[in-house]
Amino acid sequence: MASKTNIEKTMCIQSGAEKSTIEKLDGKNYRVTHATRRGNSRFYFSDNVQIVKSRAAACRLALSLVNPITAALFNGLCMNHTAKMKDVISFSTYCGLNPRCIERMKDGNSVCAACFAARQMKRQKSTREKLIKNTEIITASIYSPSLFPIIPGDMFRLEAFGDLVNDIQAANYIMWAAVNKQALVALWTKNPDVLWKGFEKIGFNKPKNLNVIFSSPRLNTPADNMRKLYIMPDGKPMIDKIFTVYTKKYIQENNIIANCGARSCRGCKRCYKKSTGVYVREILK
Ligand code: SF4
Ligand code: SF4
Repeated sequence: MASKTNIEKTMCIQSGAEKSTIEKLDGKNYRVTHATRRGNSRFYFSDNVQIVKSRAAACRLALSLVNPITAALFNGLCMNHTAKMKDVISFSTYCGLNPRCIERMKDGNSVCAACFAARQMKRQKSTREKLIKNTEIITASIYSPSLFPIIPGDMFRLEAFGDLVNDIQAANYIMWAAVNKQALVALWTKNPDVLWKGFEKIGFNKPKNLNVIFSSPRLNTPADNMRKLYIMPDGKPMIDKIFTVYTKKYIQENNIIANCGARSCRGCKRCYKKSTGVYVREILK
C-alpha cells in the first residue's frame, strides 16, 4: 500500500457540490476520490475512492464520476495556451458556428474580416472539435450554478475563439464567473445585446470578479458609445473596457499609445482588473 507521505495532488475537478480529486501515490498508482457536499454542509464527504494504474485512467475515471455537465465544461477548458495567454485558462465557443461571426467575416470593414481565430481553427482540427462541443453544451440550457467547475487557476478568459451566440450562453458565463471567486474573469464580446439579455434572464447581478470587454468591430475606432448604452441597475456600465485594434500607420500618425503589450496577459492583467483604465489599444498583428 502506498505511503501517505509521497502524495502529489495532480488535479481536482470541482463544482459547487462535488469534486473528483486525483492524487499520485508512490509507485505508478493514482488514487481517485469523489466527494460530495451534503445538504448545507461546507464539508465534502468522500463517497468513492479507487486506485488506478495510470494518469490517463485516473483522468477518465475522475471525469466520469462528476456530473456529466461539469465534466463536459471542465473538458472544454483550454489550459495549455502559449505566448500571450500562457497560464491563463479559457473556455470558448467556435466562431464558425456563430451566425454573427460568419456575417462579420464577410464585411471587409470589420476586424472580423481578418479573424485570427477562424484562421487558426482551420488548421487545428482537434481544438476546433472541442470548441464545437463547447458551443453545443453552453448554448443549449441554463445550468445550475453548482454544476460549473471551479477552474484550477486565478485568470479565466471567456471567449478566445468565438463570441456570444445566445442569451443562454451569456447567462451561463455570468454564473460561471460568479462561482469562480478566486479568479479574475474577462469576457470578450462584440455582442453586448446578447449579454444584456443574459443578465435579464438571471437577474442583473454582475459578479465583482467579472470584467466585460467590448471588442470594437472596426479598426482604429473605439466604440465609446457602447458603454453608455448598457447601464446596470446600480448605475454602472455593463461594459468595463473597450478593446480596439489599431494599424501601425494610424498609431504613428495620430500619436496613439498602444497599451496591450501582447506579450503576457498574466504579467499585464489590464483586461482582467477594473483599476487599469477603460481603453485597451492593441496593434494589428
Ligand atoms: S467576433 Fe471575434 S471570433 Fe467572431 S469573427 Fe469577429 S474576431 Fe472572429
Ligand atoms: S492588454 Fe494585457 S491583459 Fe489585455 S490582452 Fe493585452 S496583454 Fe492581455
